[in-house]
Amino acid sequence: PLTDKPLLRVESVTKRFGGVVALSDVSFDVLPGQICGLIGPNGSGKTTLFNCISGIYRPESGGIYVDGTQVVGTKRHRMAALGIGRTFQNLALFRSMTVRQNVLVGAHHLGHSGFVANALRLPSAGRDDARATADADVLLEMLDLAPVADVLVAALPFGTQKRVELARALIGRPKLLLLDEPAGGLNHGEVEELERLFLAIRDRFSLAILLVEHHMTLVMRVSDKVVALEFGVKIAEGRPAEVQAEPEVIRAYLGD
Ligand code: ADP
Repeated sequence: PLTDKPLLRVESVTKRFGGVVALSDVSFDVLPGQICGLIGPNGSGKTTLFNCISGIYRPESGGIYVDGTQVVGTKRHRMAALGIGRTFQNLALFRSMTVRQNVLVGAHHLGHSGFVANALRLPSAGRDDARATADADVLLEMLDLAPVADVLVAALPFGTQKRVELARALIGRPKLLLLDEPAGGLNHGEVEELERLFLAIRDRFSLAILLVEHHMTLVMRVSDKVVALEFGVKIAEGRPAEVQAEPEVIRAYLGD
């Protein structure tokens, strides 16, 4: 970590759905350059927390700060501009576009230009396009996508499509990256490749990564810290080995 200032601060977040308390007074921090694994049995509140951070849900109480900025109440489409990137459990790619085109979609909130400046042919438009193109080239190389840059996404294996989604989230230059079950549906070799990529991404961009994942081996190997939830309550937080050895965590997973 470069500083002790958290990139993500979750402070006493409570979220209810009718009578169900999906998150109860949950607090933790993630520092820049840290991967935080979020674990817990089904129904423990992991997805709800992701959706609170990315503006899909609004918690009843508590604060969520990204690089010091309170993000609760921010509209979903503003999240990228605030430095939050995310990938989805079910891929959200444009299947009839190429890999490079899909990645560039993630850059559209950058700068002051984007669609409007392009339409008006403002000088800044070309500059931002050039920057996005350069970023895309770096990411395609880093994620081993350069050889398929001009291939339609629909023609690629699932594991490759997952890397495209990762590149598209990264081109937005997020400070915080939310990864929702990135290993779902991947084979053993692809999971190992993902592990290598997460560490490379963390080290190269010094961002904070919050990872929801059922693949325990992956979580325990890549996470700098792990937060465990059960019934919306944080039951453990710490280094992977510590959390894994917590009696509360073992009980939650083994069902008492
Ligand atoms: P996880 O991602 O850990 O499996 P969730 O965040 O999906 O857990 O769910 C936490 C709790 O909140 C569960 O009891 C679930 O039934 C409930 N819940 C989640 N989303 C909704 C919703 N949109 N409406 C009502 N209840 C919900």
